[in-house]
Amino acid sequence: MEIFKSKSDLLHTLKKLKGPLGLVPTMGGIHEGHLSLIRKAFQENSSVIVSIFVNPMQFDDLVDLKNYPRNLNNDALLISEISDKIKIYAPNQGDVYGSKIKPNKYSFDKLDKVMEGVKRKNHFNGVANIIEFLFKTFNPKNAYFGEKDYQQLQIIRNLNKSLGMSTKIIQCPTVRNKNGLALSSRNSNLTRLEQKIAPEIYKCLLDVKKRAKVNSYEEILDLVSFRFLKMKECNLEYFIIANQKTLSEISSTDLISGNRAFIAVKLGDTKLIDNIELS
Ligand code: AMP
Repeated sequence: MEIFKSKSDLLHTLKKLKGPLGLVPTMGGIHEGHLSLIRKAFQENSSVIVSIFVNPMQFDDLVDLKNYPRNLNNDALLISEISDKIKIYAPNQGDVYGSKIKPNKYSFDKLDKVMEGVKRKNHFNGVANIIEFLFKTFNPKNAYFGEKDYQQLQIIRNLNKSLGMSTKIIQCPTVRNKNGLALSSRNSNLTRLEQKIAPEIYKCLLDVKKRAKVNSYEEILDLVSFRFLKMKECNLEYFIIANQKTLSEISSTDLISGNRAFIAVKLGDTKLIDNIELS
């Protein structure tokens, strides 16, 4: 299993390889959700890069950045079980940003004006900086992203278009625990009690999907708020139903077609997000 710290070493190795290149950008803490993207990339491309980089530019909370799980050896082991031909790119900050002090600024056609874009200032701008770097450096044919971070996926589609890149963005379904909880590197920060409560988030989304056929938006908003008010360990950051292309909150009475429900819940110090397609 080759782990590259330097983009020029990796580019040198890639030069010798033929056929389509797939890229799976991650921040490590590899779990079955990431592995599902990597497996798909491995099936669909001749070469695959998995990048592992906890990108400081996308964190607005230094405690969150410090607590983010990091275990490169374990990540490499899990990835090597798919294939030891996969290239891991695990750079330090200098290899990515050099001495750049000012991040590039982007506009995402209002996709960043809702949900995580409001809660985490500059988060998507930070994401866009690393994705632009990875796309321009390696010019992958295909890049793989999870539906779990649906707003990020839409923003990357928008970025890819505005950069005029020919990379194809591949949307991959959310992988869940048996109890429905969406896998996330942050789940490892949950206490025992929080782990027991966390599956309520997806249960709530499933309930919303059912109710969207019969209840009004206002009724659903009340029901969701009430559900989380009862659980004192949970702090509901937001719940909205939005158009899945524009991410703007719905204004019509049709809650279903072309829409998705989005939720963010804070459990202790850990923030969890999830979403479900309603159509
Ligand atoms: P992260 O390491 O959290 O930045 O995630 C890297 C990629 O894996 C992103 O495209 C995520 O959307 C995706 N991902 C994270 N969790 C899951 C999951 N449970 N199912 C599918 N994809 C996921």
